[in-house]
Amino acid sequence: MRRKLAAGNWKMNGDAAALGMLAELPRPEGCDVVICPPAPLLYRAVEAAPAGVAIGAQDCHAQAAGAFTGDIAAAMVADAGARYVIVGHSERRAGHQETSRDVRAKAVAARDAGLTTILCLGESAEERAAENTLDIIAGQLSASVPDASTAQTLVVAYEPIWAIGTGAVATPAQIDEVHDFIRDRLITRFGPDGAAMRLLYGGSVKPSNAAEIFASDNVDGALVGGASLSAQDFAPIIEALARS
Ligand code: PEP
Repeated sequence: MRRKLAAGNWKMNGDAAALGMLAELPRPEGCDVVICPPAPLLYRAVEAAPAGVAIGAQDCHAQAAGAFTGDIAAAMVADAGARYVIVGHSERRAGHQETSRDVRAKAVAARDAGLTTILCLGESAEERAAENTLDIIAGQLSASVPDASTAQTLVVAYEPIWAIGTGAVATPAQIDEVHDFIRDRLITRFGPDGAAMRLLYGGSVKPSNAAEIFASDNVDGALVGGASLSAQDFAPIIEALARS
């Protein structure tokens, strides 16, 4: 039985005062709740988070230390008390020219630092229109996911790029098709661990559509951007996940 996971990605939003929402989040049985604030808030977020709400970073560098101005190492994320890190978000793949090879190196660094990686992948609107979705996902999976990943070290987030921050949500059939495909690939590669890895959907998840998204067998939770910024929006998503 996979534990459910509701993860919030604040992107470049929020401040110290915004951390007050952490105490207002529900923490249902069988459900992990994670908030990933911007890096300067990590320490304060760890202090502000009640038991049952974990903190994650939004990125880490592949190297352990060195002359990488502006970057943060996975060990620094762990040292701040965070337990998760997002890697391979499409905003970093596109905006920072990160390749799947880069993403894999970051996931290895995160694993070595004892963090759980939330590894994002997903197709663009053009790739879907050209019916290349499953090829793109297969390529990203094989190139981004490190060997020897386990259900403890890795969570995969399917985030169709066209659904992120747009209000356009993948249909249950589209989500089922991709999540079932990812599950098959993970089982082929990792055996029982592949069956135990959690798969999140991300892309305009809201209180109004969460229950429908969580109804899919291979959806174990969500990676939520905009709707994770307030307890008012994120709490009903967590509750819908717990009920699913
Ligand atoms: C995200 O940033 O990972 C995301 C899914 O954003 P949103 O929920 O705002 O679409």
